[in-house]
Amino acid sequence: MQRCAALKPTLSRLGVYFFFAIVIGLGLLLSVVVIHSGHQVNAVIQPLVTQSMPTLRTISELKTEVTERQVILNQYFAYGLNHAQFRQKYQSNEHEMALLLQKTNPEWKLNQRYKTLMALNENAKLVSEQLEQIMTQEQPDLDEARAVLVENAIDTNEFLHQLDMSFVDASKAIEQAGQISLDEVSAMIRLVLAYSLAIVIIAILVAYYIYARQRAENRLAHAARHDRLTDLLNRSMFEADIAALKQKPHLGLLISIDRFQRVLGGLGYEAGDELILAVKARLLPIVQQLGGTLYRLEGTHFAAIFPIKNPQALHTVDQRLLHALNGAVMVSGHELFATLSIGGAMYPQDGSDAVTLIRNMDAALEQAQAQGGNAAQTYSQEMNARAVERLALEGELRHAVERNELRLYFQPQALLSNQQVIGVECLVRWQHQGQLVPPIEFIPLAEESGLIIPIGEWILRTACQQAKAWQVQGMPLVVAVNISARQFQHPNFLALLRQVLHETQVDPQYIELEITEGVVMQDADHTINLLHQLRALGLMLSIDDFGTGYSSLSYLKRFPLNKLKIDQSFIRNLESNNGDAAIVEAVIRLGHSLNLTVIAEGVETAEHVAILKALGCDELQGYYFSRPLPLADAQVFLQQRLQPVSIS
Ligand code: C2E
Ligand code: MG
Ligand code: MG
Repeated sequence: MQRCAALKPTLSRLGVYFFFAIVIGLGLLLSVVVIHSGHQVNAVIQPLVTQSMPTLRTISELKTEVTERQVILNQYFAYGLNHAQFRQKYQSNEHEMALLLQKTNPEWKLNQRYKTLMALNENAKLVSEQLEQIMTQEQPDLDEARAVLVENAIDTNEFLHQLDMSFVDASKAIEQAGQISLDEVSAMIRLVLAYSLAIVIIAILVAYYIYARQRAENRLAHAARHDRLTDLLNRSMFEADIAALKQKPHLGLLISIDRFQRVLGGLGYEAGDELILAVKARLLPIVQQLGGTLYRLEGTHFAAIFPIKNPQALHTVDQRLLHALNGAVMVSGHELFATLSIGGAMYPQDGSDAVTLIRNMDAALEQAQAQGGNAAQTYSQEMNARAVERLALEGELRHAVERNELRLYFQPQALLSNQQVIGVECLVRWQHQGQLVPPIEFIPLAEESGLIIPIGEWILRTACQQAKAWQVQGMPLVVAVNISARQFQHPNFLALLRQVLHETQVDPQYIELEITEGVVMQDADHTINLLHQLRALGLMLSIDDFGTGYSSLSYLKRFPLNKLKIDQSFIRNLESNNGDAAIVEAVIRLGHSLNLTVIAEGVETAEHVAILKALGCDELQGYYFSRPLPLADAQVFLQQRLQPVSIS
């Protein structure tokens, strides 16, 4: 990839060079052709200028002189001139003629016409001598003289005729040369026009190419600074902007969408993108109004910087941002209720570089999330201590399995009708440094770090062993095991289940896997396939915390499930909250219409029991019936409560 990227600019540079090479090459070619044509035109024009044109002039002068000669002879005969005048004029004429005939170009001299002219000229000399002889006699014979003059007239006519013919020859040569020159010059003009056109086209191409390149470079530069999905500035710009703050106090906020996957349920990745865009659309105007800059760092994390000197102002900013999502967000035609968590830190005192600032904003954000989300927290020094503590805890958790520090607690589940125990849910605890750490404190950590895979395997194996033990003891209880998202999505999950079932020899119908709504809805096609394979193994399947995420009902119909577990948040205020009662009733109806057993979690009071019974719920689990118990206590409880109890 990198090599390709490096090759591209080289190739494009080569492209420009290629264009210029073509322009220069064509230019050279044109010069050669123009020089060649110029030479040709020159070769044609030169004889015109040096030969044909002078010839024409000479012909014209010769004509004058010949006519003049005839006039001189005639005047001499008619006694218009005396002998001395005749001699002077004739000699002058003869001299002019000789000069003109001599001046003619060499080529013409080779011509037959020239030879004829020379002969006629010689003849004219003889004629004049004859006339002179006759006219110098005492009694000139005028008849003889007239005959000589007639002969001269004939010669003169012939002379003029030959000159006219020579004139025609020279004119033809000039016309021909003119035509050739015209052709050459037009060809040259056409060539120069074609070249100019080629230059214009090439210039347009080069200009377009440079423009396209510039655009591509601009786009690349934009992509390097912006997040692709939201077009907000990205993390590297956040880092650059922090570096450019030069110690001027600012407030930095890290903003995250709470329980993103859960909120999204089964709506898929595209809906996830839509949700992020919707959150951006709500946050951006507020951040801009408050004079800040919004960034998208990654995933569900946005960041914002505000030029605020007073930390008191932080509360106002937080509140406005927390309320940004008030009301539902529409995603893929569904109403989603999302909330935000915000972690704030002050620049430069809480971090004078982007890495430290982000780390501390993150510590504050975690704190806000730990409060259940929809909250804002400001960074304090102790948070870092807590983060360090978490890191240490993770290190300890790594050894929890091998040091045999994990414990399974069992919380009984009973039929609502007669409170007969029908199963238990396995809930893990961590016996760590003399304390029993609840799952809420280490399961998320285990999920994040990937430790959930070995821990989950231990839980599954222990639960199956216990189920088998109860089976052997004649207590056929369904043992429910919580499966985390990461476990469920692990490629070896199915193989591990097969192996554990085989190892423990437990009857799979007594093992129930609890999977949360959000996990099942992700990648629904794959999930359906996996759930069918799990059912094919004979296992029971339930959806945990039902009602807290968004379940697509059409998918739910296609999932081979056995049970819905109504989340305890709906049960808590059942007696006082009509809305919760309505939801519970709807879930029970829905479950029954899909042929599923419905169990209520977190049942704490007799009132809860009465309402649930009235609403037609099948089973219950909660403190009202029993808290989660360690094995020994569970054993006693179960033995007592395996039989139905008659209740009022
Ligand atoms: P969950 O699977 O929904 O478990 C029910 C939780 O509700 C348990 O908390 C249980 O002690 C508590 N609970 C039961 N009855 C009542 C009641 O009447 N009132 C109230 N207020 N609470 C009640 P726990 O044991 O602290 O577990 C919390 C969560 O941790 C579980 O929620 C489950 O998501 C996770 N978890 C527990 N054990 C495992 C485990 O083995 N594997 C995995 N992956 N997660 C586990
Ligand atoms: Mg559970
Ligand atoms: Mg639950």
